Parts: sequence; C-alpha cells; structure tokens
Amino acid sequence: MRLRFAPSPSGHLHVGNARTALFNWLLARGAGGTFILRIEDTDVGRSTRESERAILEDLRWMGLTWDEGVEVGGDHGPYRQTERLHVYRAHVVELLSRGAAYRCFCSPGQLDADRQAALRDGRAPKYAGRCRGISRDDARRRIEHGEAAVVRFRVPAHRDVVFQDIVRGEVKFSTDVIGDPVLVRSDGVPAYNYAVVVDDALMGITHVIRGEDHISNTPRQLLLYEAFGWTPPAFAHVSLVMGPDHSPLSKRHGATSVKEFRDRGYLPEALANYLALIGWSPGEGEELLPLDELARRFRLEDVGHSAGVFDEEKLAWVNRHYLKAAAPARLAALTAPFLQAAGWLGEATPEDEGYLEQLVPVVAASVDRLDQIPSRLAFLFDYDAARALARPEIRAEAEAARPVIEALAAELAPGSSLIDKGSFRAMAGRIREKTGQKGKALFHPIRIALTGEPDGLELDIAVPAMERGAQLSASRLRRIPSAAQRAAAFRAALGGPPAPSDVEG
Ligand code: GLU
Repeated sequence: MRLRFAPSPSGHLHVGNARTALFNWLLARGAGGTFILRIEDTDVGRSTRESERAILEDLRWMGLTWDEGVEVGGDHGPYRQTERLHVYRAHVVELLSRGAAYRCFCSPGQLDADRQAALRDGRAPKYAGRCRGISRDDARRRIEHGEAAVVRFRVPAHRDVVFQDIVRGEVKFSTDVIGDPVLVRSDGVPAYNYAVVVDDALMGITHVIRGEDHISNTPRQLLLYEAFGWTPPAFAHVSLVMGPDHSPLSKRHGATSVKEFRDRGYLPEALANYLALIGWSPGEGEELLPLDELARRFRLEDVGHSAGVFDEEKLAWVNRHYLKAAAPARLAALTAPFLQAAGWLGEATPEDEGYLEQLVPVVAASVDRLDQIPSRLAFLFDYDAARALARPEIRAEAEAARPVIEALAAELAPGSSLIDKGSFRAMAGRIREKTGQKGKALFHPIRIALTGEPDGLELDIAVPAMERGAQLSASRLRRIPSAAQRAAAFRAALGGPPAPSDVEG
C-alpha cells in the first residue's frame, strides 16, 4: 500500500488538510505501507518555500513522519513538482503524438467571450472546443511562429465515468459536462489535474485519500489514467471539516491552521487524536488513543461521508487528557515560551527549569491549553498589592477582614518562610487562634493578601510556590516576592490604623 499527502505550499496547513494527511498516515502505518510526502508547487505565483517549510514542520510536530518525499528522498523522486517538469513534458509529448491531447491557441479574451455566451444561452460554461480540429502540422507551424498555446486533453464525448469511492460509494459523471482540461499552460507549467496523475502513477500510489472538494477532478484524472493505459489508484474522498454553522471551517470561525492551535498550547498528540475523531471513531468510549493504536484500528471503510464539524470544546477535552498525562519536564519546556511572551522569563536557567517542572504540572492539570497558564501564574510574577486593593470588592473584603490581614503581616515577619504545606497550615492555625476566624473568613483574606486575586490555585500549593520562587538565586524569571513581602505590602497598601501589636512593640 502506498499513500501520499500532496499539499500545495500556499499558506499554513489547515486542520482539514492535516486531517487528510493523518488519514493517509494512519492507513499507511496500520497496513505496514509507505507514506509519501509530495509538494504540489506548480501554482508558482502562490507557492513559497517558506510555506512548504511550515507545512513540513507542522506535520512533523503532529508526529506524521513520511517514508519518502521532500527532505527524506526515496526511489520515486524528485518529490517537488517544480523539479519534475521534465517528467510532465515527456509524458505530454506522448499524449500529443497519439492525439489524446492537442494544442489550444484560444486567447483569454476568446475563452471569456465563449464562457459568457454559454452562460447567456444556459449551457454549461465548458471549453467550446475551438482548437480541437487543428491539425498537428498546423499547430506546429503556429508554435514555430511564436504563437502561445496550452495543451488540452481531449475528453471523449457522451461517456459516463464511474468509480467506487471508498467513502462515498459509486460516483458517476458524464463526460458531456467536462470541458477539455488544460494539461500544460503556455509557460510549460503543468496543471494540477495532469501533474497529479503523472505523479500518482509514477510514484505507484495505490490509494488516494483527499478532501471531497477534489471529487469533480477525479473523472478528469481517471480519463487521463485511461489515456496513458495506467491502472488508477483507489479513491477515498473525505468530507471537509466544517465550522459550527456547517460551512467549511474558515477564518470567520476563528483558528483554522495547525500553527494557530499549536500557538494556543494544544499538544500535538491531542490535536492529532482529535482530528482522527472527526468522521471516524476508534470505538465507543475509546476515543483517547495514541497515534500507533489509532493506526492499528483505522479502516477507511469506517470513515463517515457526512460533514465533520470541528468542535473546539471536544479538542479541549482531548487536550486536558494529554496535559494531565504529559511528563513534568516536557510541560515545563512547552510552557516556557508562553511565560517568555508574557515577559516573565528570559532564557530559562537550570534552576528555573527545576522550579517550573514542579510548578507547571500542578497548574496544567486545571487548564484546557498551555496559553491559559500565564494567567494562572500571574499571582507569582505580577503581584501588586495596590492594584489589587484598587478593586472595590477586594478593598471591601480586606477592610472587613482587617484583623486577619494584620495577623498575617505579623506572622510573616521578614525572613519567615512557608516553604511547604505544613508550615503554611500551621501559620493559618495560629491566625485562626488569634482572630477567631475560620474557613472562608480566614482563608479568603489570606488569599487576596498573598496572591492579589480572589481565586486561583489552592493556597497550600500557591504559597509554597511563591516562597520557593522568592528563593531562586540564579534565575531569569521575573522576581517573585515572598509571602512576607506580600503580606507587608498588602497591609501597607490597605492603610488605616496600625496593628495593636505594632503599637505595643
Ligand atoms: N495539492 C492538492 C491540494 O492541496 C492535492 C490534491 C490531491 O490530493 O490530489 O488540494
């Protein structure tokens, strides 16, 4: 079994195309077949190497490595269409000499006029066939005189092209609705429908899995296989990925590219696992599986033909599963760029790495995506007592809980350290005894004073985290104030009468 993914490098990898790549990869891997990556860059105006590089990077990021293709090589190369022009040229000569293709000299103006006329008369606007009858000798003479020409394929009249699509069942097109397609443009660059057939045939592709937007191209391609005397591959046209309104997922719906989901902090295994679930299921209640297990279970016959809606809620659910399963060091490393973007981290030192390795997994257990982690850690790096107290609800609560705030500041004399749960709880116990407050009336004022926020991580995790952070010595993290510094700053910002203990002391 030989499968390929053949992206056009004219933009970022859309998640719908990533899913197409994934289905090809799953089938190849599950069947012990070969997965090939070919770059279809014949649209020279829109293709860029930069976009090609980005697509390769996104595929590798998702774990979709290829056995043959650009950058890895193989026996059927080159794998970039602009490096295969000689191959397309040789094969078009063959079609021309057999009369299966012909030169067309129609100007763009002429083609447009024919099109308008067809539309006016209610006919299908297909190529009118003006140049079909030009003899090979005449065509050669006109070319020698410098006239520009394209090569068109001669579509046989009044025939049905029928094929069994693995996903959609029998598909039938009448050749009467198909105008003679352009195979090679006047500048010698091949058109998609032609290059794809030559490549799939010469690369020995056995199964073509692609988006259903290509289904109307398939009869043209099948006619070309027939003209060359080649056996066509099996075709499977998978439904497009839709937005919630059932129109193809596009910018209007929000993020569409693998890059965007990656930048939001979805893990690669989560995105890949989720994409496999659009239109296919590995089994009831068994949706969360690693790629190799998905490959073992994947069957093209089980892919549904109805449109799959991209459900970011479900992607988040899958991501949460993988965030909980990820190794601490990996989570810390993946989170570092988000902290850098927030301006809280330079180049992480080994000490920072150790600190983040302890901290990040705790926070990651309660977010959908890594990009939500900075806001959960703002209490560490962005603590500002005055700013917190400028919030009316925090000021009101602090005023009402003044005894707790005072006791906290007194307990947390400079140099004190609540480096673990036990010492934090012991201190809370002492404040309870001093003030008679307990439960929420005790802990919530402590929370707002030490974190500057009304909610967040459990205090017996958050407080040791700030204490450890305050003790970092070889760090490129933004300075983290200690609990004692916070308690003092909060009490100072609260203002008002000094605590009785201060008066006595
Ligand atoms: N380059 C085409 C695309 O990106 C490939 C279509 C195909 O798989 O045949 O849509």
